[in-house]
Amino acid sequence: MRFVISGAAGFVPSHLCDLILSQGHRVVGIDNFLTGNARNIAHLTGNRDFEFIEADVCQPLPGLGEVDCVIHAASPASPKDYYEYPLETLDVGSLGSRNLLELARANSARYLVTSTSECYGDPLEHPQVETYWGNVNPVGPRSCYDESKRFAEAITMAYHRKHGVRTNIARIFNTYGPRMKLNDGRVVPQFLDQALRGNPITVYGDGKQTRSFCYVSDLVRGLLLLSQSDERMPVNLGNPVERTMVEFAEVIRRMTGTQSEIVFEPLPQDDPKRRRPDISKAKRLLGWEPEVDLEDGLKPTIAYFQSIQAGAIA
Ligand code: UDP
Repeated sequence: MRFVISGAAGFVPSHLCDLILSQGHRVVGIDNFLTGNARNIAHLTGNRDFEFIEADVCQPLPGLGEVDCVIHAASPASPKDYYEYPLETLDVGSLGSRNLLELARANSARYLVTSTSECYGDPLEHPQVETYWGNVNPVGPRSCYDESKRFAEAITMAYHRKHGVRTNIARIFNTYGPRMKLNDGRVVPQFLDQALRGNPITVYGDGKQTRSFCYVSDLVRGLLLLSQSDERMPVNLGNPVERTMVEFAEVIRRMTGTQSEIVFEPLPQDDPKRRRPDISKAKRLLGWEPEVDLEDGLKPTIAYFQSIQAGAIA
């Protein structure tokens, strides 16, 4: 099959490219490097099954040839990035979705959009099941991301209902692993960077808010399975093991062996208090569940950030 993957130089999509290529398919990766990084796909240079196009998917797309599956995975994804690029974030979920859905429609190709647990906002139901409609502040600082992804889901369903495009919607929960940006402000790179430098670990609020962290290899396996399924409604993909941010900081301290102390800083506005996916649907439909536990996933992640800090990875 020939896949088009938007955001190919980003953290999750670059791992998805690797997985799809390893299964003998061809990939056309697209990225405009707004928040992606060329080093994430540098190892694919010279791979005859991989083509790269530097382009903004919000603009008219260049001719891409025949396509079997489109995966729209482009978007700023960390709070720090989407606060910095709110308009680009809204564009890529709306204009970008429209362009890539048209591409799928013109090719009678499959289409998968990487949506997010942020669709649930600061959830009032716990754990989050796909049928929950969410508790999103439509005008808060996170709304540029949340509403962009909610629009992306809506236009995906509209193309399916109106034009019969074979669509899938993945709601991705917190994911971590090598190739995350060291300075993107998310809790995994932030805590690791601080711990590895011996700087204070900054827990926001009282640190009792929870997240559930999925290792990237588990996540991309789920995405590929979902892209082959006939399920049109959203499917949660994430690791259901939930931790408070204080507990997570302690895991980081132990695994890095750092002497860093934990300090408390103000909680950002609208920071979700609890987040854990209900993955019964993915288990039932895809036979998927995470296999990598936090400690096993953190080992290669720590090694990656050590290389970045040491300048060993350009
Ligand atoms: N967080 C923290 N310290 C940091 C960065 C983040 O305590 O230095 C918290 C943040 O307030 C949130 C959680 O970690 O409750 C996860 O934040 P992240 O930015 O990784 O992603 P989110 O899940 O909020 O999209």
